[in-house]
Amino acid sequence: MFINLSYVLSEDMPVFSTNPKVKFEPVLRIANGDNTNVSMLHLFTHNGTHMDAPWHWNPEGKTIDKLGFEDMIFDRAKLIDVTKRPNFLIDRPDIEPFFLKDDDADFLMVFSGASLTRESNPDEYSKRWPSFTTDSAKFIIEETRVRGVAMDFLAVDSPGDLAVWNAPVHYIFEGRKDVSSRGVVLIEDANLRPILGKKIKRVFAMPLLVKGMDASPVNMFAELD
Ligand SMILES: [Zn+2]
Repeated sequence: MFINLSYVLSEDMPVFSTNPKVKFEPVLRIANGDNTNVSMLHLFTHNGTHMDAPWHWNPEGKTIDKLGFEDMIFDRAKLIDVTKRPNFLIDRPDIEPFFLKDDDADFLMVFSGASLTRESNPDEYSKRWPSFTTDSAKFIIEETRVRGVAMDFLAVDSPGDLAVWNAPVHYIFEGRKDVSSRGVVLIEDANLRPILGKKIKRVFAMPLLVKGMDASPVNMFAELD
């Protein structure tokens, strides 16, 4: 059985304030007397459920078209629920207890609870989210073997940092040489609620292979046991 973990792309979905919204432009419409329905999509690379390639904040990182299946298919995915954490941010102590010594998880999905209000309060969802601390990002990069991290909120960095184009957590996750030893792919604004408590066999996260780009909408789904 498969379960979709991507939100449907729509013009009215919540996006971060500095991001342009996606736009769908009708080119031909049967309703208008044309013989077919065809459309133009104006997509911003970071709206909706999307995959950040390491090149996003790391000039030496891979672009989205250079990623391999090892960045898209995961056999040992771990879903963690951090809704009971003591503070708003997601810090190292909120993540570390979920990893055993020599844990071989290859993908980490972090359910923060932020997505519970995505539909009922999209304004709040697009302005305020938990974000990771640099300590939790360092733990994931240095102490685990995951090759990708997905989360149910808009970005790994805080809205305040991103508003001034600062991204210390992205730098670590994306393997910038001065602060990090390796890069992983990030899947932001993922719909993780449908697989809470489920036994996951595999996770697929398939981006569009767009030449030289920083990110792409991603079709992410889980195969259950
Ligand atoms: Zn992004």
